[in-house]
Amino acid sequence: MEKIRKPCPWAKECGGCRYQGIEYSKQLRKKQAGIERLLSGFGNVSRIIGMDDPYHYRNKVHRAFTKDGSGNIISGPYEEGSHWIIDVKHCLIEDEDCQKAAEAVKGLIKEMRVPVYNEKTGHGVIRRCLIRKGLATGEIMAVIVTGGKFAGAREFAKALKERCPRINTIILNLNEKRSSMILGDKEEVLYGLGFIRDRLCGLDFQLTSKSFYQVNPAQTEVIYKKAMEFARLEGGEKVIDAYCGIGTIGLTAAKCLDPSGQVIGIELNRESISCARKNAELNNITNARFITGDAGTIMKEMAAGGERADVIFMDPPRSGASISFMKAAIRMKPSRIVYISCGPESLARNLKFFRENGYEAEKIQPIDNFPFTQHVETVCLLSNRKRKPDSYVKVSLDMEDYYRI
Ligand code: SAH
Repeated sequence: MEKIRKPCPWAKECGGCRYQGIEYSKQLRKKQAGIERLLSGFGNVSRIIGMDDPYHYRNKVHRAFTKDGSGNIISGPYEEGSHWIIDVKHCLIEDEDCQKAAEAVKGLIKEMRVPVYNEKTGHGVIRRCLIRKGLATGEIMAVIVTGGKFAGAREFAKALKERCPRINTIILNLNEKRSSMILGDKEEVLYGLGFIRDRLCGLDFQLTSKSFYQVNPAQTEVIYKKAMEFARLEGGEKVIDAYCGIGTIGLTAAKCLDPSGQVIGIELNRESISCARKNAELNNITNARFITGDAGTIMKEMAAGGERADVIFMDPPRSGASISFMKAAIRMKPSRIVYISCGPESLARNLKFFRENGYEAEKIQPIDNFPFTQHVETVCLLSNRKRKPDSYVKVSLDMEDYYRI
């Protein structure tokens, strides 16, 4: 009989973990059934790959701060769909070192009497904190988010480093906007280098406060290994890593290529792209370049310029890829598309489009990247049916609306 820990008492309000209290093997069966329901019409769905230890995997912790009626500091995530802060004492999926660092921030706010920001009036100073950790390196980043000027920031950072010596960098982030965006644009490094590093698939990756990084690095390695297995790279290929974040997939692919091969990464977020470029340097990879912009627009331009690709990795956000992206991908005539998806519904819609245009799902592999939540990641291999190359694209370029998803 599988041992299950006492479920999280805050799960209902928090809404992050819909599968709290359910045995892990049962969670996996539920996810498998959900993926099969949505995707088995496209191909055979392999058995989901779960985690050996599904607890405390999350390498990113966010806490908002407020005061209750008696003046005690409350810290936690927002209640699902609202701006109420839930006083979470301990989370079952977040990394424990990250939670300790967040607790240290809370303790110091109290001891150093730093005014907590008031969302209604806009008065006060510290609003939130964001903690990130590199699983393999143990490096920790603490981002202190304020709603206004914080005169004592340097003393606060000094005290935080003393209390939590394992923190490698401390960043002050100013967010004066009344929105649910955690971080604002302005930042100042108070301690360390302003970034942390992690190691995935034998490569080093540098990440900053706002760059994208997968929240479960242990399972991310499983996902990337599966993606590389599906890509069957031989060495000389031209590879596209669309929605590349800090370049993790593209650089992992670049490692499998010889100097005649090349990788092009495309990503909307500037900070992620600048990390991707640094990451190429860090790993002495010279045949990868990175472009900032909307993946659909860039791919469309590339396809219009007659560019081809041998393998396309695509890892879009939960809403899936745009029609213009998929059309351009098809025009580039890759022999394989490796689709990494965190949104099975959008994946199903996109697979339908690809199938109608000559690309069939050959392999569908669900991987549990988010235990205790309802979310699941799927790695899917699409190959082109043996057709005459020019009959792949049946859609005309101005038929966007017809295929709108
Ligand atoms: N492949 C990366 C990131 C995947 S998450 C990894 O494994 O870590 C999806 C990424 O798509 C995010 O970095 C997000 O910033 C980016 N993104 C979202 N919309 C985009 C768009 N329209 N064009 C390009 N990138 C986009």
